[in-house]
Amino acid sequence: MKVYNTLSKKKETFTPLEEGKVKMYVCGPTVYNLIHIGNARPMIVFDTVRRYMEYKGYEVNFVSNFTDVDDKIIKKAVEEGVSAQEISKRYIEECKKDMENMNVKTATVHPLATEEIDGMLEMISTLIEKGYAYSTADGTVYFRTRKFKDYGKLSHKNLDELQAGHRDIKVTREDKEDALDFVLWKPKKEGEPYWESPWCQGRPGWHIECSVMSKKYLGEEIDIHAGGEDLIFPHHENEIAQSEACNGKIFAKYWLHNGFLNIDNKKMSKSLGNFFTVREIQEKYDLQVLRFFMLSAHYRSPLNFSADLMEAAKNGLDRIRNSAKNLNYLSQNAKVVQMAEQEAEFWKESDVFVTKFESSMDDDFNTADAISVVFELVKYINTKVNEASSKEFLDKLYQRMCLLCDILGIILEEKEEILEEEIETLITERQAARKEKNFARADEIRDILLKKGIILEDTREGVKWKKA
Ligand code: AMP
Ligand code: ZN
Repeated sequence: MKVYNTLSKKKETFTPLEEGKVKMYVCGPTVYNLIHIGNARPMIVFDTVRRYMEYKGYEVNFVSNFTDVDDKIIKKAVEEGVSAQEISKRYIEECKKDMENMNVKTATVHPLATEEIDGMLEMISTLIEKGYAYSTADGTVYFRTRKFKDYGKLSHKNLDELQAGHRDIKVTREDKEDALDFVLWKPKKEGEPYWESPWCQGRPGWHIECSVMSKKYLGEEIDIHAGGEDLIFPHHENEIAQSEACNGKIFAKYWLHNGFLNIDNKKMSKSLGNFFTVREIQEKYDLQVLRFFMLSAHYRSPLNFSADLMEAAKNGLDRIRNSAKNLNYLSQNAKVVQMAEQEAEFWKESDVFVTKFESSMDDDFNTADAISVVFELVKYINTKVNEASSKEFLDKLYQRMCLLCDILGIILEEKEEILEEEIETLITERQAARKEKNFARADEIRDILLKKGIILEDTREGVKWKKA
């Protein structure tokens, strides 16, 4: 398997640190709003990387954080007159719902920055002891960037050309030894959340959070560190400096970065206001379509979002789903059980699609090519099956299609949509069943609705329902 490593700017053969295991960290979102589909891109593509690694037999320890302390979260909390914690908690919940709806697997651990402050204090103290960091009169702690000899190795930047413009404190302050030094710990401002520390009451810088969470849950050396390409500099460059200066070991072996999701060839971002939330897309499409759209491009290429491309993705997915539906239909009505000799030959012949799919994915997770192979398989299947096909043949082909789609996180069965009218009718029927003491039927109706994502609540004012 080859992966493109931002560190070497080359495709490299993937060799894990420990045989059969992959330790992977993906930088997660800052939670102050519903996530937009740009944020969804790393979630979908690195979930697909994980799924493929698992398919290959690796045990993947997948860690992805939530940045739950940040200027933007605090700003939103002030606007709403609630605590920063309330904001982050709310949007973590919402983000998890979106992830589930996009069929993004839950991480092995989803750490929260605010729950890992002790580890951050420890790493910052070590960096000070080793001479890689210093505190100033107001209790700010800076990383001594020029002391870390490999600084710039990820972003391939030359130290002297660098400008220290990043998400922490932007202005060059007089108490900094060097303009390139970046913040590890900063003093609180009035009304902000803060933690006690040896330097001042304050909060961590953004970069130290990921260094610490990665170390705690995956160890000092990991296989893959990933995120959007905007994180290469300064975020990931700074993470490398902190972790390698502290631990004296190579932090991550492979650095993977996804390209931007653009609109009109501009990065989709909250600050530019040119974004769609995942929720907005969900109003119009099954989120499997969004997933399919994202995977139709290579993860490192820029991807332009447009209504036309979403429609094309929908049509493409429908084509695959229709073929799957047809297989199921034929299988249910099949008159022959066992595979015929000719079918066995076709079955063997279709191995080639699995091989081709794997070689696309082995080539730096080329999902665009992998999807083309799924289309080829669909075409092949459509020409080889009919009413006379055996159940065994049909079922095997269906499983093969499922297997490939599952690696991409694509669910072949369409979510059954339920209309409000239908819900109300079922609720009325359930009430009647309860009146007649037919509790079995009443429970059955509750389960039917639950399967369709509808939760019933019996309240004093009657039965209420909500979407799960
Ligand atoms: P943030 O919440 O800004 O920290 O971003 C969370 C993740 O989403 C990071 O990995 C970003 O690189 C990624 N990201 C944000 N906007 C986009 C975009 N338009 N296209 C692709 N990835 C993005
Ligand atoms: Zn990070």
